[in-house]
Amino acid sequence: MSGRAPTAGELDAAGRRRVRIPPVLMYHSVSPSAQPDPHRVRVSPDRLDRHLRLLRRLGLRGVSLAELLAARERGAAAGLVALTFDDGYADFVEHALPVLARHQVTATLYVVAGLLGGRNDWDDGPRLDLLDAAGVRAVAAAGHEVGSHTLTHADLRGADPVTLAHEVGESRRVLQDVLQAEVPGFCYPWGRFDGAAAKAVRRAGYDHACVTGDHLPGDRFTLPRAYVAPGDGAPHLLAKLGRYRWRMRSVAPAPAR
Ligand SMILES: [Zn+2]
Repeated sequence: MSGRAPTAGELDAAGRRRVRIPPVLMYHSVSPSAQPDPHRVRVSPDRLDRHLRLLRRLGLRGVSLAELLAARERGAAAGLVALTFDDGYADFVEHALPVLARHQVTATLYVVAGLLGGRNDWDDGPRLDLLDAAGVRAVAAAGHEVGSHTLTHADLRGADPVTLAHEVGESRRVLQDVLQAEVPGFCYPWGRFDGAAAKAVRRAGYDHACVTGDHLPGDRFTLPRAYVAPGDGAPHLLAKLGRYRWRMRSVAPAPAR
């Protein structure tokens, strides 16, 4: 699927399609907890609320990444910013959903499909509870996108083909079974990926995938995101969003699938 045909202004001198990189913010845990947060994955609900108020003042609306990409294909992505939350922490239902609902925005939650109802054993930091299947269904029922973050939060960079097929493909099957719906989005744990991992994601039937931070070449299966830190105030968020204004890159057209 290559989306709508590029207009002249979107083609560079070499005839490659110029794609505006969609602005995507990356959050993790949302909680008022004061426990140590050595991996800097926690944003308080108050801070998330302030971020969403700022977006509204800027004339921006938060949407899931799938919604942003669909809008981009219709040429209607102006004013949208994707909100993504990694790992599927249980606090999402209690602390993020009410804030998102208050601002009438949607988001994407990337869950570790093989650890539903478990804990974040992949980290050496504090153990945090993960949503179970009912929690994941509640998130989807509230209008948010649920995407895959592998089965076990595996590092896919350099992974062998069997591991790739299992972590990428089986996690999609598990989530589609839980949700009884298509799962179009994937997110590489730690943002680590390589060409084989991106190919495995495409092969497993996903529509798009996102990484962490900057990367090259950048396409639909390696979409960059801006990490939001626990202490980020308005200037930080403005700086992170501002970088997207000029981030036009020439990339090959999306492959037919
Ligand atoms: Zn993660």
